[in-house]
Amino acid sequence: MPRIDLHTHSTASDGTDSPAGVVAVAAAAGLDVLALTDHDTTGGWDEAAAALPAGMQLVRGAEFSCVSPCGRPGERDVSVHLLGYLFDPGHAAIVAEQARLREERVHRLRGMIAKMAADGYPVDVETVFSFLPDGAAAGRPHLARALVAGGVVESVSEAFATLLYTGSPYYVPKSDTPVRTAIEMVRAAGGVAVFAHPLARRRGRVVEPSVIVELASTGLAGVEVDHPDHVPEDRALLRALAADVDLVVTGSSDYHGTNKPTPIGAETTAPAAFEELVSRAAGVPVLAG
Ligand code: AMP
Ligand code: FE
Ligand code: FE
Ligand code: ZN
Repeated sequence: MPRIDLHTHSTASDGTDSPAGVVAVAAAAGLDVLALTDHDTTGGWDEAAAALPAGMQLVRGAEFSCVSPCGRPGERDVSVHLLGYLFDPGHAAIVAEQARLREERVHRLRGMIAKMAADGYPVDVETVFSFLPDGAAAGRPHLARALVAGGVVESVSEAFATLLYTGSPYYVPKSDTPVRTAIEMVRAAGGVAVFAHPLARRRGRVVEPSVIVELASTGLAGVEVDHPDHVPEDRALLRALAADVDLVVTGSSDYHGTNKPTPIGAETTAPAAFEELVSRAAGVPVLAG
């Protein structure tokens, strides 16, 4: 059975392997299908495509930073991630929104660095951005690496647990895309949209299942069920929900190189689910090496 991992990150965003490096790691792990889904950029697509070995397929995608109503009356919106696959990367709305989000990311990371420096932490803009290739999408993991380099913490995970978690004194929010708008954009560009790790509770507040049901009726194609941040009970809940409202079920590692402990291919997507997603896309083709 082909092994399919539909969610990975490279140095085009907050992974530690180059796009070609992610492809190489995927090939070494015996994956047959790999999706590259960097945060808010398609900047890694060409390098990954050029590195594709014979016999492997590449799904070009991205992970969009979004906000969504949480589904609990009176409570504020929550941060959510949307995976878009096989969309036209030249679609004007996507080009503009991804550029805006990357600007937002730089601005908010500078804000976080300033807050930490003001409190005496040995971080500065130059060091943090030294981990970021030109044009890549900046994120808290880049700041985390600077904190590791500065000897403040031992690991990226420790940096998140102690200093960089959502809501920490050093956290600065960014202005993300309403998830409905993002789904519409991905679809208008010929792509398919999948809700990434909707119940990753250890990252913060999550949506009620009713929100996923509602999005399913407004163009969402699938939901990521098998994800390292989902506990077994939530996987079961999501699987049942997906069956009810006809959402495609995916599984993925959310590989980030050495920034996270999960190896590539640790979670995978069933071939029939993958075929279903591909059949609904009309933007760019799956590439075959
Ligand atoms: P940002 O996009 O700047 O808000 O940062 C969020 C990113 O940080 C996610 O995409 C993950 O890659 C990473 N992240 C979030 N929580 C953790 C954690 N506990 N340990 C390591 N990385 C994390
Ligand atoms: Fe990430
Ligand atoms: Fe994510
Ligand atoms: Zn991700």
